[in-house]
Amino acid sequence: MAYTLEKQIAITAVVQASALCRAVRAEVVAPNSLAKEDKSPVTVADFGSQALICRQLSMAFPRDPIVGEEDSAALGEPKHATILAQITHYVQRFQSDATPEGVCRWIDAGKGEVAERFWTLDPIDGTKGFLRNDQYAVALALIEQGTVKLAVLGCPALPLDTSEPEGRTGVLFVAVRGAGAEMAAMGDLSFEPIRVVQGEDENRRRFVESVEAAHGNPILQEAVARAVGVTRPPLRMDSQAKYGVVARGDAALYLRLPSSRRSEYREKIWDHAAGALIVEEAGGCVSDMYGYPLDLAAGRDMQRNRGVVVSNGALHLAALETLASEMAKI
Ligand code: AMP
Ligand code: MG
Repeated sequence: MAYTLEKQIAITAVVQASALCRAVRAEVVAPNSLAKEDKSPVTVADFGSQALICRQLSMAFPRDPIVGEEDSAALGEPKHATILAQITHYVQRFQSDATPEGVCRWIDAGKGEVAERFWTLDPIDGTKGFLRNDQYAVALALIEQGTVKLAVLGCPALPLDTSEPEGRTGVLFVAVRGAGAEMAAMGDLSFEPIRVVQGEDENRRRFVESVEAAHGNPILQEAVARAVGVTRPPLRMDSQAKYGVVARGDAALYLRLPSSRRSEYREKIWDHAAGALIVEEAGGCVSDMYGYPLDLAAGRDMQRNRGVVVSNGALHLAALETLASEMAKI
C-alpha cells in the first residue's frame, strides 16, 4: 500500500506543527532570558503542536485513534487561562477557526488507545532540547498490526548538512514501509532518498546518544561503541533527531541503554516509532538491547523491551554481542 493520502496529510500537519514550535521558541520567551523553572514555551508549543496535528488527522481519518503524549486536562484550570489563550493564538495562525474550547478538543483527540491501526504522536520530542535551544522533533507514525507503516519526523532545528552546523536548519524525514526513506528541507519539501553510512566512511566511527545522561547509560554506551570500532567522541543530541542522523549516514550507531538509576523506566512508543521506520527504510537496523524488535502493539509503554540499539545494520550484531558480554559482567 502506498499510503499516499496518509503521507500527504501527515507531512502537512508535521510541517505546520514544526512552524508553530519554531515561532513559539522565537517569540514566547527569548531563550537567553528563560527562567530556570519556566516551562511556558514548551507548554504552549507541545499543546499547540498536538492540537494542529490531531485536528488534521481526525478530520481526514476520523476512525483512527491517535495516541499522543499530551492531554488538555490541566488547561481547564483557571491558573492556566493565559497559557490556553497563548496556545489558541498560535494555533489560529495555521487554523483560523481555532477557539480555546476547540483547541482543547483537538488536543484530546490524541487520547486514543493502541488499536489494530492507530497513529502515535510526540508533539515535541526532546523537551529539554527545545528549552535549551538545541535539538527537538515532532514525531508522527502510523502503526498497523504492530508495525510502523508511515513515519514523518520534523526536526526544525537540525542543520540540513551536518558538516555546516551554522547553515540552514529545518529537516523533514519521511518513510513508508517498503518504499524507502527520504529527507527534505522543511522550506521547500523537495525530497531526496537517504541511506545509512556504508563501507569505511569516516562517519562509521561515530555514534549518537542523548544529551541527558539520565535517559541512558553513557558509560556502557561508550564501552559498546568502542568495542565495535566506533572511536570518535559521541555526538550528543536531544530527541529522535538521533534516528534521522543515523538514517542519513552522519553516524553509524545510536545507543540508548537503560539508566541504572531508573531501571523501572519503559520506553514510550511515541519516542521511537517514527524514528525506527526511518532508519530501517534507510537500510539500517533497530532493536532493543537484547536484539528483540520494538513492541509497539502492547500499549503506550514498550513493556517487553529494554533499551534501544539503532545502527547502520553492519554494526548491529557486533553491538548486541558486546552488550551481551558487558551485561554478563554485571
Ligand atoms: P532524548 O531527547 O533522546 O533524551 O529523549 C527524550 C525522551 O526521553 C522524552 O520524550 C522522555 O519520554 C524520555 N525519557 C524520560 N525519562 C527517561 C529515562 N529514564 N530513560 C529513557 N528515556 C526517558
Ligand atoms: Mg518524547
